[in-house]
Amino acid sequence: MKNNRTPFVAGNWKMNGDRSLVTTFSASLDSHAVSNVDIVLCPPAVYLPLFSSANFSLGGQDLSAQEPGAHTGDVSGEMLKDVGCSYVIVGHSERREDHGESNSDVAKKASKALACGLTPIICIGEPLAVREAGEVEAFLSEQLKALVEHLSVDDLSKSVIAYEPIWAIGTGKTASPEQAQDVHKFIREFFANEDKTLAEGLRILYGGSVKPDNAKTLFAQADVDGGLIGGASLKVEDFISICQAA
Ligand code: PGA
Repeated sequence: MKNNRTPFVAGNWKMNGDRSLVTTFSASLDSHAVSNVDIVLCPPAVYLPLFSSANFSLGGQDLSAQEPGAHTGDVSGEMLKDVGCSYVIVGHSERREDHGESNSDVAKKASKALACGLTPIICIGEPLAVREAGEVEAFLSEQLKALVEHLSVDDLSKSVIAYEPIWAIGTGKTASPEQAQDVHKFIREFFANEDKTLAEGLRILYGGSVKPDNAKTLFAQADVDGGLIGGASLKVEDFISICQAA
């Protein structure tokens, strides 16, 4: 544990899984308690009510920033809370890409999540072209600025940040531990300019092709507090071993 920050691992099933995977995960996670790590599973919304376990928390993959009402197909923070969620992912790069979510949309969703009593796991990250152009910090600053414009220091202190370089998501190309640490340090310093205590307590996760064989070195970095896991969160043994690495 670094600076009293409890390690954190979240599994994002994306649009994958079925009832039988829910049963497998519930049984395996129940019999493999991993202590001193906050573990969150984010299956598709329809499967959330099928889970029940004391060994991990549940999270949604997205929520609507609108008030409940006439918004066909959307899921509200109130509903996620009602089916047992404590967390919700916001601003995943796939939502930004597939649904045109802007930096300010993402910040509004984070704010809505907090208003519903959910902890937002706020995703940021750059595409490959930005990294190759050497503009990672400028790009991330824009994503981070939108957050500090919409969220108070108190709100941010109740949030989790996930740095997910887009070029590493689902590609098998993980950021090196040094690349991850450099960016995580930059993110923590960005928040330190807002408030030092906030920055010291903020959990910053790494996401992008985290697997059992690279998790330990990534999580060992000074400013990496755990991971947001996609593909490897669909295999229960892999997910458990990543949780153990934290
Ligand atoms: P990946 O996905 O682990 O499959 O790269 C990470 C994510 O998109 O959260």
